[in-house]
Amino acid sequence: MVFVLDKQKKPLMPCTPRRARLLLARKRAVVHRLNPFTIRLKDRSVQQSTLQPVVLKIDPGSKTTGLALARVETIAEGEVHHALHLAELVHRGEEVRDLLRKRAGYRRRRRSTNLRYRPARFLNRRRPQGWLPPSLRSRLGNILTWASRYQCWVPLVRVDVERVKFDTQLLHNPEVSGIHYQRGELMGWEIRAYVLEKFGRRCAYCGRTETAFELDHLQPRSRGGSNRVSNLALACHACNTAKADRTAAEFGHPEVEAQASNPLKDAAAMNATRYALCDKLRVLGVPITTWSGGRTRWNRDRFGIAKAHCLDALCVGNLAGAKQGRHRTLSLKATGRGRYSRTNVNDAGFPVGYLMRKKQVKGIKTGDRVHAVVPAGFAAYGTHTGRIAVRANGQFRMGNVQGIPARFCRIRQLADGYDYALVETALHG
Ligand SMILES: [Zn+2]
Repeated sequence: MVFVLDKQKKPLMPCTPRRARLLLARKRAVVHRLNPFTIRLKDRSVQQSTLQPVVLKIDPGSKTTGLALARVETIAEGEVHHALHLAELVHRGEEVRDLLRKRAGYRRRRRSTNLRYRPARFLNRRRPQGWLPPSLRSRLGNILTWASRYQCWVPLVRVDVERVKFDTQLLHNPEVSGIHYQRGELMGWEIRAYVLEKFGRRCAYCGRTETAFELDHLQPRSRGGSNRVSNLALACHACNTAKADRTAAEFGHPEVEAQASNPLKDAAAMNATRYALCDKLRVLGVPITTWSGGRTRWNRDRFGIAKAHCLDALCVGNLAGAKQGRHRTLSLKATGRGRYSRTNVNDAGFPVGYLMRKKQVKGIKTGDRVHAVVPAGFAAYGTHTGRIAVRANGQFRMGNVQGIPARFCRIRQLADGYDYALVETALHG
C-alpha cells in the first residue's frame, strides 16, 4: 500500500499502488517520499475524507522487529485486522556492541602504551535509573523512530505490542480467568511458550536443539501425573517415546525433575527492553495494549498465517480474525548515520589512513539515495540508483561501482539512518 497525506501533510488512509499511479498521472498528487512510498494530495484535506482506525502492531525481537499496520474492522466476535503495511526492522544491536568494545580496546592501549602512570578508573561511575546498554538503546530507538514516522503517515489510533513471551499471570493464577479459560486452547499455547523458555529450546534428556519438541509429563499421565507446568518437560520425539511410562528419575534423569519444579524467574520471563519500550511508546499519545507471545502463536495457528516477523506482528493481540492480503514486506535495515572515529586501523591496532572531517562532499553525504547517469567515456559508465558512499576527491562509490563523479549524482532521498528494500512476504502456511 502507498501512504497518502492531505494538502496540509496530515495522514489519510493508505491507497493501492494502482490508485496512487492514477492520482500522480492526473497531477492530483505529488510524490512526498520515496521509501516507504508516500504521496501527497494537492486538492484534499483531512476534513473532506473519511478515516478508518489503524493500529500499529509490534513484535519486538533481538535482531529483527516485526511491524504491521492494520485497519481495524469491528464485528460481533471482536476485531478483525486487515494488513495495510508489513515491515521488518533489522537492528544494529551486535554492531553497536562490537564497536564500543573496539573503542574500549583502543583506549586501554593508549592508557598503557606510553607507560605513563594513570590510576585505573574503577567503579566510580553511577548508572542513571532505567539505564540500558547502548545496543538495547539502539533497538528501542529504532522502534520508536518508526512508530512516530508511521504516526505521521497513517491515522493511528492504537499500538499493540507483544510485551512478554508468555502470560505468567495466567500460568500462576489460573483462577483469575476461570477454569474454562485455563483449560482452553490459549492456555495450551501459553504453557508451550513457558516450557520452551524454561528448557532453553533443547530436549531435557538428550540436549538436541534443532527438532520438533513434545511436552513430556515427568510423572506420566497414566500414573496420575498432572498437566501442571511443574510436571512438564521439553523432549524430542525419540526421548519421549523411549521414556514411555517411566518417571524422569526412572529414565535416569532425576535432575530434570528438579529443573521442572523450579519456577522460571520472572526476570527471565520478562524482557527489560520490552518493558522499557512500552514506557517510551507513551510519547505517541495513543493507547498502548500489551499481549503475550503465546497468544500471538495461538492466533497464527488459528488463522493459518505463515511464520515471519512481520506476520507475527500482525497476529499480536486479542483478535477475531487477521487478513494478510497481498503485500510485499518493507525491509528496514538500521545503518547508523556515520561514526565519530576518524581513522581506520589495521589488525594490530595501528592507524592506517585518516577519514575526512566533513560529512558532505558537493552537498552529498554517505547514505543518501542517489540517481546517477554517467555518460560514456567514464569508468562508471551507465545509470546507477542506490545508496552512495562519498569520497573526498569527489569520485563516489555505489555498491561495487567505483568512481562515480559527484556532478552526475542527483539526490532522491536523504540518508535517514535506514536502508530500504522490498521483499516478498511468505504466503499463508
Ligand atoms: Zn531428546
